[in-house]
Amino acid sequence: MKKAVKVKPLNFSTSWSYAPAPEGTEHVQLKDRYELFINGKFVAPAGGKYFDTINPATEKKIASVAEAGATDVDKAVKAARQAYDKTWSKMPAAERGKYLYRIARILQEKARELAVIESMDGGKPIRESRDIDVPLAAAHFFYYAGWADKLDYAFPGKRSQPLGVAGQIIPWNFPLLMAAWKIAPALACGNTIVLKPAETTPLTALKLAEILQEADLPPGVVNIITGAGATGAALVNHPGIDKVAFTGSTDVGKLIQKALAGTDKKYTLELGGKAANIIFEDAAIDQAVEGIINGIFFNQGHVCCAGSRLFVQEGVAKEVIRKLKDRISTLIVGDPLDKNTDVGAINSKAQLSKIKTLVNAGIKEGGECWQPDCNVPAKGYWFRPTLFMNVAQSHRIVQEEIFGPVLAIQTFRTLEEVVEKANNTPYGLSGGVWTDKGAKIFNVTGKIKAGVLWANTYNKFDPTSPFGGYKESGMGREGGLHGLMPYVKLS
Ligand code: NAP
Ligand code: MG
Repeated sequence: MKKAVKVKPLNFSTSWSYAPAPEGTEHVQLKDRYELFINGKFVAPAGGKYFDTINPATEKKIASVAEAGATDVDKAVKAARQAYDKTWSKMPAAERGKYLYRIARILQEKARELAVIESMDGGKPIRESRDIDVPLAAAHFFYYAGWADKLDYAFPGKRSQPLGVAGQIIPWNFPLLMAAWKIAPALACGNTIVLKPAETTPLTALKLAEILQEADLPPGVVNIITGAGATGAALVNHPGIDKVAFTGSTDVGKLIQKALAGTDKKYTLELGGKAANIIFEDAAIDQAVEGIINGIFFNQGHVCCAGSRLFVQEGVAKEVIRKLKDRISTLIVGDPLDKNTDVGAINSKAQLSKIKTLVNAGIKEGGECWQPDCNVPAKGYWFRPTLFMNVAQSHRIVQEEIFGPVLAIQTFRTLEEVVEKANNTPYGLSGGVWTDKGAKIFNVTGKIKAGVLWANTYNKFDPTSPFGGYKESGMGREGGLHGLMPYVKLS
């Protein structure tokens, strides 16, 4: 009689590893010091102050960056106003479109350099900046270039007019892409801009300023001023702007809303999220596990729409958690410039300490915390992909946005139960549903209060598709035809 042979499952994390495949940096051109981009030129800040932007994977300084004070903000807003009055609002729409096409093409030409800088400055894996951030940024310019001279078709029967000067403030998680989301529709509609990137990731926006010069965009049409929160606040409060477009945290969004109450400035707010990813028993489990991993560990969980809460139907909970752990154990955490890396560096020391605080709170509240046994580099800011089981709806890790690679897992029995749990959050930005049944997709997605819902996939973006939230996740939509609306007056 033959004896049964027990086969030991392969442990991919330790049995073999990839040879390092670092992306080259020799083609990257960076200055030691960056000034403010105002009225088509790089100019020193009036206060003479500079701050460092560092590489979060090495903690090394990359460049000094100018800090814009109130005088500089005023100068930038005035330059934008002048460009609006004298040039941009008078230019035929088709000509505006040509500039946008030109910017899009230069972004494509410089894609490799921009991807490397994005990964150096922000810590995200090169695979993401190369395959997602930069191509999507170019795609947004291409898409809105097409709308510039077709606004009559976007708003049939109405006359659209630009608003004037837009003050735009963006976060650090998708620096170039967020700049493109903001700049492209505003320019297509005929507005001029003052943009403030985040303090920890200003470099691709400043490279974009060089691209705008190369594209011969008339001076003052786009001004890029760097600095921290105070610079953003000075821009929001400047009486010379007509519109604020903000992407960032709900806390700052609320401050902005208060500051704008009683003014006639228009605003759009893209804020935080706490998305539910829901797996039903009839889902293709392996595909769902891959989607869950992509949904939360993509960009270290520095994604407003990250699937940070997982709801698994009871019958498959054990299998899903086992498969998630197996898959997470194969993820490569480390050098963002290595093409094999799955999980890069946490964007800043402050963000790392926020993640640690919430994870410690989760442990204290009784959650079962699991992390893979992977090495992380000694220098830099890192956090291992983390799972939390046995958590309750009231736990902070279930309620608060962590903005890190941390997934809180809960189980459910019925569709009604999971819908109620998924909606039990102040946020409403995004979510995901995994099931084999089309009818169930429509049933569940119709009941989840979130701006974007993916079915049997996650984190898919396209310039033609609107994006934005409900409740404390913000107001207004960016992307697609909807993304033109916040930048026009209709009559
Ligand atoms: P944040 O602290 O709110 O910062 C966002 C931007 O606002 C940064 O440029 C920041 O400058 C600036 N800022 C800070 N205080 C300000 C103030 N009082 N007035 C005006 N501007 C101010 O957010 P973050 O931590 O950078 O980004 C993470 C957050 O963004 C998360 O909550 C995430 O969910 C959200 N997010 C949302 C979306 C979406 O589309 N819904 C997309 C991406 C990110 P400094 O960074 O220089 O301080
Ligand atoms: Mg940096």
